[in-house]
Amino acid sequence: MKESIKVCNRCDLSFPLGDFYNQSNTKDGKGNYCKKCKSEYQKEQTKMLKEKNLSMYLLRESCYAAFERGKPTYKRKGYENVRCSFDNARSLLEALWNDETFRNEWIAQTDVYVANNNIYKYRPTLDRINPELGYEKGNIRMLPQYINVSRDKAVC
Ligand SMILES: [Zn+2]
Repeated sequence: MKESIKVCNRCDLSFPLGDFYNQSNTKDGKGNYCKKCKSEYQKEQTKMLKEKNLSMYLLRESCYAAFERGKPTYKRKGYENVRCSFDNARSLLEALWNDETFRNEWIAQTDVYVANNNIYKYRPTLDRINPELGYEKGNIRMLPQYINVSRDKAVC
């Protein structure tokens, strides 16, 4: 049996297929960057996003945290019945970012946050309008961190 080798599109080195992450939308089912390059690439992307679009970066962080909190395995007190109705953090992020009203409020609060030297209490956060309900369409709005915590629940 011939061993499968693949050339990384980034560093141009050859590796066994096991050194590439699975990716469903490629011919061989593997990504085009080796694992090391892929991880470097993702770090660069995150850094770039943070510099170029802080607002979206903050929302992405919040969405990933919200999605974690919505998992049935998340056991922190007060979150037992909090669920996220989205399939993954990415689709939660997309739904919120594509909502013009939400996005404008999020960006406006990011500006306040930056104008206040990134003091945490001014950071935009995801608030569940009805705390009995989870992270689902129609129940999420932006609140600055200090108003959100004053509603007496954990925040992300
Ligand atoms: Zn590589």
